[in-house]
Amino acid sequence: MKPQPLARSDPASSETALPAAPLPSPDCSLCPRLAGFRENQQAAHPEWFNAPVPPFGDASAELLIVGLAPGLRGANRTGRPFTGDYAGALLYGTLRKFGLVHGHYDARPDDGLALAGVRITNAVRCVPPQNKPQPREIATCRRFLAAEIAASPSVRAMLALGAIAHDAVLGALGLRRTAFRFAHGAVHTLPDGRLLADSYHCSRLNTNTGKLTVAMFEAVFAALLARLAESGNARGMRETHGTTAETL
Ligand code: SF4
Repeated sequence: MKPQPLARSDPASSETALPAAPLPSPDCSLCPRLAGFRENQQAAHPEWFNAPVPPFGDASAELLIVGLAPGLRGANRTGRPFTGDYAGALLYGTLRKFGLVHGHYDARPDDGLALAGVRITNAVRCVPPQNKPQPREIATCRRFLAAEIAASPSVRAMLALGAIAHDAVLGALGLRRTAFRFAHGAVHTLPDGRLLADSYHCSRLNTNTGKLTVAMFEAVFAALLARLAESGNARGMRETHGTTAETL
């Protein structure tokens, strides 16, 4: 794999100094349906995390990866984004291929894994039934994503895993969806110069159906990291729908 271009902070300190963005309380009830589902899981699986899952990764990350929401037996169980399920195995495996992790991913929050220049979060912090948050829940939880992005001046690019994450990022930034449409492989240049890249979500469903292959997923990272390594972001781009976007 091509060497990754992201600046890396000291892994020993990066995990303990996450941005001072406000986090939801462990018993956040802003989304009644999700709070109720969470309580049901607490009763059924008291050993699980069963709370809003906080971001994970480098405090001075240049790349922010935004997923949809915690998986029931993944992040909701372990308390770390994308940890413990199929999507996490693919995501962390890909980050490892591109040199964006320190240590080894072992599907446990105490596996010692640290991210290098990357942070991972979700558009919705609580696990939704059937992995499907409702529009109102996405809008309600947007405040936490917006606060996190606002508290992350080092972030030069965001990678949205799926259309919902893409739209959540736009909403968090106060940007119109019609100006930056989701498309797998697209890399949008936002008005402030930061990049927003799109990928289909790395879920088991998408890979089982062939919607997303490992090669496709890796191509997204390769192209985005190459763009970040460029000194200028405007080269070779075409104008589309009021924005600049380049498809991989
Ligand atoms: S999804 Fe977000 S806003 Fe809704 S209850 Fe969970 S933490 Fe609160």
